[in-house]
Amino acid sequence: MRAIRHRNLYSFLVFSVLLALIAPRAVQAQVTPASDKLSVHWEELTAADFREGIRRAQGTCLLPFGILEKHGPHLPLGTDLLDVRYAALHAAEQEYAVVFPEYYFGQIAEAKHEPGTMAYSRSLQLALLQETTDEMARNGCKKVLIVNGHGGNEHLLPYFAQTQLDRPHDYVVYVFDERLPHTGGPAKKTTIDMHAGESETSKMMISRPDTVHLDRATNESGADQHRQNLPEGVYTGIWWYARFPNHYSGDGSAATKELGEYQMKWWVDSVAKAIRAIKADDVSLKLQNEFYEKSAHPLETQP
Ligand SMILES: [Zn+2]
Repeated sequence: MRAIRHRNLYSFLVFSVLLALIAPRAVQAQVTPASDKLSVHWEELTAADFREGIRRAQGTCLLPFGILEKHGPHLPLGTDLLDVRYAALHAAEQEYAVVFPEYYFGQIAEAKHEPGTMAYSRSLQLALLQETTDEMARNGCKKVLIVNGHGGNEHLLPYFAQTQLDRPHDYVVYVFDERLPHTGGPAKKTTIDMHAGESETSKMMISRPDTVHLDRATNESGADQHRQNLPEGVYTGIWWYARFPNHYSGDGSAATKELGEYQMKWWVDSVAKAIRAIKADDVSLKLQNEFYEKSAHPLETQP
């Protein structure tokens, strides 16, 4: 009898201890979001899920950067935005990161003569991008990867990243500005292939085939018009207009789904690889902080 009572007391104590251990977790479970499958889209997350997303992404967020400009006679104005978001979103699903919504406020002055171009001023491009990454960082994105989808941003983005050194920031801006594999894949049929040509049209056949009008790809010429005669190494802002005034460079009619599949897979995998490397990068922010600190008193800096 006594033995039984002791056993009951023992069971009661064990039960109480277990309850004390489990109870706070049970309460916590009610407020913690069901987070097995989190969207990678910033705008689709609830506030609580966003907090969990930033934790899961280890503070790594993507800013896919597109543009609105003419793409030959056969592709939509938002081609760069549609393509880069396809690549970035699929990459973030491979290697979790939070992806910022549609962003197309870049450099496209050279297409202002074509319908549908949104060309923001130089000062606004830089100011908006700075406030966007600052705000992303204030929300926990301490590693911002700008994934560029638009060739016309090729100077803007390194300049933006470089000038993050002008004053202290508690986050790092990374830029990934590759859209094509250098080797491999199905053989290409064209040699000029810069804008709305074989490659870009092929990728759109993967990301948004419903917007590709392949039957119109030969309605205009995408040939190089060679209207400037300057030695290599001399740069002018009018170079693109001089060569490709119709915002078509190449021949989109040569596009195939096979080429698009190969190139898009390469792009997705490359961005996922960049996300993994950036998550593992514990050097850049440390060096930035060291640099900011030293730059406050340059005369004391020792070699
Ligand atoms: Zn494009």
